[in-house]
Amino acid sequence: MAQLPDGVPAPGDGSLPDPNVASGFAAYVHIPFCAVRCGYCDFNTYTNLDFGPGASASDYHDTLAREIELSAGVLGNPGKVTSVFFGGGTPTLLPAKDLAATLERLRATFGIEPGAEVTTEANPETLTFERLRILHDAGFTRVSFGMQSAVSHVLQVLDRAHTPGQVDAAVGWARELGLEHSVDLIYGAPGESMDDWRASLEAAIALDPPHISAYGLTIEPGTKMGGQVRRGEIPEPDPDVLADKYMLAEELLSNAGYEWYEVSNWAKPGHHSRHNLAYWQDANWWGYGPGAHSHVNGTRWWNVKHPIQYAAALAQGKSPAAARELLTADERREEQIMLGIRLREGIATPQGAAPEVVAGFIADGLVEPVPAMHSRLILTVKGRLLADTVIRALW
Ligand code: SF4
Repeated sequence: MAQLPDGVPAPGDGSLPDPNVASGFAAYVHIPFCAVRCGYCDFNTYTNLDFGPGASASDYHDTLAREIELSAGVLGNPGKVTSVFFGGGTPTLLPAKDLAATLERLRATFGIEPGAEVTTEANPETLTFERLRILHDAGFTRVSFGMQSAVSHVLQVLDRAHTPGQVDAAVGWARELGLEHSVDLIYGAPGESMDDWRASLEAAIALDPPHISAYGLTIEPGTKMGGQVRRGEIPEPDPDVLADKYMLAEELLSNAGYEWYEVSNWAKPGHHSRHNLAYWQDANWWGYGPGAHSHVNGTRWWNVKHPIQYAAALAQGKSPAAARELLTADERREEQIMLGIRLREGIATPQGAAPEVVAGFIADGLVEPVPAMHSRLILTVKGRLLADTVIRALW
């Protein structure tokens, strides 16, 4: 499981140097439970659903309510919540009424902007029409379905428990309820051929969702798959094959009317995820739950990872923050460049970027030439594959 950064100690009451979020903030709610642990996953999630009072799946929403209360005390004159995202883990492993209760607690505490996007991630095998209806009636507006692949042997190697048909049914229910939705794909799993990946893209497009994500598989050292690679049981994904798969995604998705708006995200016009954009645009957000990260006005902090430690801190009326970082103006600018360059609108060419470096990007086909001549860097499709190279060259 991914380690938390080091940082400096966070105050026990959670207080912030600049807590002013009068113009609102985004809320992320982490649900740290899963039915099985997928071999490639290094998210902060647990298959034990019973860690005792406050840390178990059954009463976890009560502990989240405590952190919401704490955040109301910490944030100065907070504006309304501008978007909400329930992620995990597997949020839909909790009863729909518990997710609804957490959303209601946010609404009662801060208010939620009219028309705000309220998303939950959902594993297709955990859903029924009735559960989705409860979420819809509670104010959820969007579901992000973990489809990953349409090919059975790829789902198997990823340890995913659903069948391709369950995604079709879940997307149909979302459409019937008028919920915005995304299907989320992963490419590059061991044994996935180019034809398999094409089949997954075509199946996702055939479902006609307003939004599709496609992430290349990365193998983290601490995962089951990381161990299999280390022991030579499975090959590491080949970067050239990953690049070819990305190009195929761009080709098929753009031909089907999806526009990229972030390196790994495509949407029909007007259907991009507003919550995700809040992260990429360096807005303020509070992440609730164990291991969740937050950012308010240049202070970034992260909660303790384990649900037991998390629940214990809140039961004592303390902040569950493990540590924090106070970003300098330069660090914030660098971060804005790193995140902003991944977006379709790109970034203003940073002051100090040498003209010959920008000319080199154009010559190498990494940025769009016309905006670059007008001091705006927008990645080409080749540049999207080499976004890290572009960023490094800018410093
Ligand atoms: S369902 Fe998602 S969060 Fe849970 S183990 Fe699998 S990949 Fe990780």
